Parts: sequence; C-alpha cells; structure tokens
Amino acid sequence: MYGKGILKGLSVSAKRFIETYLDDIRWLGRKRYGTQEGIAHRSGKDGRGIFTIQYPEEKLPTPEEFRFLPFLVYDERENGEKNLRCTSCGICAKVCPPQCIWIVRSTDPATGRPIPDPAEFYIDADICMNCGLCAEYCPFDAIKMDHDYELASGKRIVFDKAALSKSAEYYESIRPANAARENAARAAKAAAHREIAGTSNV
Ligand code: SF4
Ligand code: SF4
Repeated sequence: MYGKGILKGLSVSAKRFIETYLDDIRWLGRKRYGTQEGIAHRSGKDGRGIFTIQYPEEKLPTPEEFRFLPFLVYDERENGEKNLRCTSCGICAKVCPPQCIWIVRSTDPATGRPIPDPAEFYIDADICMNCGLCAEYCPFDAIKMDHDYELASGKRIVFDKAALSKSAEYYESIRPANAARENAARAAKAAAHREIAGTSNV
C-alpha cells in the first residue's frame, strides 16, 4: 500500500508527542528539564517521549576526554605570580597539522640568548581542527584541550597568550583523572631525580 511508510513514521512521531506529556505528568513535582537528573532520565532507558536537549538552557554533561580548543596551563606561585609551564620549545607548533600555532620566544636582553618562556603565543581558533596533537606531544603538560565550546563569533578568533592562559586548578577541574595521572608521574620523576642527585653527592 502506498504511503504505509509515511503513516508509520507519523504514528511514531505522534506516540513520542503524547508520551512527552505523559512523562511530564509522571514527573510532576520533579524537574524534568534544566537539571542533570532530568537530562539523565530523558536520555536513559526509562526516558519516554521527546528527549531533545533544550540548549542553551540545558547542556549534556561533557565527558573528560572531550576536546575543543587548546589552552596554556599555568601554576600559581605562593606570591600569586602565574608561572606558565610552557618553555616555548615549539614542539606543539611543529606537530600541529594545519599550522595554527605561532610562538615567539623570549630572549635575555643582556645576552640575546633565548629564555624558556614564550613572549607571545597565538592559536588561530578558526583553523584549529581540535585534534589534540599539541597536547599529546607537549613534554611539559603545558598545553591541554579545553571543554569550553561556546565561542561562536562573527569575527575571526585568534587567541593570544593572555586569553589562552588558564590555571592548573581549572585543568584539574575539567580533566581530574588525566591531571591526577600526570601529577603522579611528575612527582615520581622528581623523586627519582632527587634520588640520583643524592647518590651522586655521596
Ligand atoms: S606548549 Fe608545550 S610543546 Fe608547545 S611550546 Fe610550550 S612547552 Fe613546547
Ligand atoms: S588541537 Fe590540533 S589543530 Fe588545534 S592547535 Fe592543537 S595540534 Fe593544532
């Protein structure tokens, strides 16, 4: 019969439509929209009816490994000074497939020799393809992939050093498992160095 498929499709839509209201009634008194509990219910196996996320009022939880644009990690010293981990080695810029990272190294004004600290650091957000290779290859855990994806703009976005810099605490808040693993590896490396130094002083 002609049109059988269309009728079937329409009946599915109608069923979803009605189930949405029935589920709303079942959830009376609880927040089915705008809460993590409501989102989890609607996208879980017990969810009925329309399960569309009402963006931007609602957002799906972001998994730890989600990646958008890179940012530079800094550690805060006791005096409040921000210490970027980046040594301006340039590895991230070399491995970046679309070549959207630009780094200018600092130099010692007295000797003219390079200092392991970026004077300037730019990432062209419109070219970045979110591959994460820069973060994978950085030997100093200095560049990491961010979760912030709400950057829509009518203009070209090129982030400079100030805009890219975010604290180690922020990094730990969005990628706790990764940060814990890296912190443990750094602590083990530092302990091994101390042990070697102690042995050589004997
Ligand atoms: S972010 Fe990492 S890889 Fe890139 S220049 Fe800085 S230290 Fe080197
Ligand atoms: S995420 Fe990929 S494309 Fe973006 S800056 Fe890093 S290496 Fe380049």
